[in-house]
Amino acid sequence: MSNNFTGVFRGTKNTGVGLATTLRAFLGRNITEQYPEYKHPVMPRFRGRHKLHRHANGLEKCVGCSLCAAACPADCIRVVAAENTDDNRVSAGERFAQVYEINMSRCIFCGYCEMACPFDAITLGNDWELADLNRDQMIYTKNMLLADPPTKDNYGMNRRAVTRPEPDLDSSLPVWLEETVSRERAERSSTDLAPTKRQGRGK
Ligand code: SF4
Ligand code: SF4
Repeated sequence: MSNNFTGVFRGTKNTGVGLATTLRAFLGRNITEQYPEYKHPVMPRFRGRHKLHRHANGLEKCVGCSLCAAACPADCIRVVAAENTDDNRVSAGERFAQVYEINMSRCIFCGYCEMACPFDAITLGNDWELADLNRDQMIYTKNMLLADPPTKDNYGMNRRAVTRPEPDLDSSLPVWLEETVSRERAERSSTDLAPTKRQGRGK
């Protein structure tokens, strides 16, 4: 009996606290923030858009080791490494990331990639304006990640503006889609050839 009474008392008290909070917010001063002109500041340790970094001499810090990709629980990082040469030195190490992509629509912003990187080549910044109407645009390429995130002046334009062709790749498609399309083209052409061969055998 006393347990029931305690439960009812606790429930009534919690409901009262909730209603008081609602009432306080209802009667309080309205705050209107003029977004996107004003962006509400986030906490310093907020994890948002990724950024790839360069050394002071301009060389990329990323050496294409793929440790970040291995640590990523959402499997949304893709790294393809290539060798630096004397004629084409991109990073300070033996290799560099020829392709570095993050599928932002899958990222859960856990920060494991940042922790896994031995060279502080990738960090998560404070930018949170990542929404897009097109899933293809959510694949962030290396050039996009090397560029600065959008500012108040170029809001909404930065990610597309910095999209440049990756070396030796068709820039009209994201890399992951290009591979899928090429594979499908190859499969289609092999099936197209099959009847021809059968016809040839039948003659
Ligand atoms: S923040 Fe987490 S989920 Fe996002 S890319 Fe890095 S490791 Fe993957
Ligand atoms: S960002 Fe860091 S961990 Fe990821 S491939 Fe580059 S060097 Fe390796």
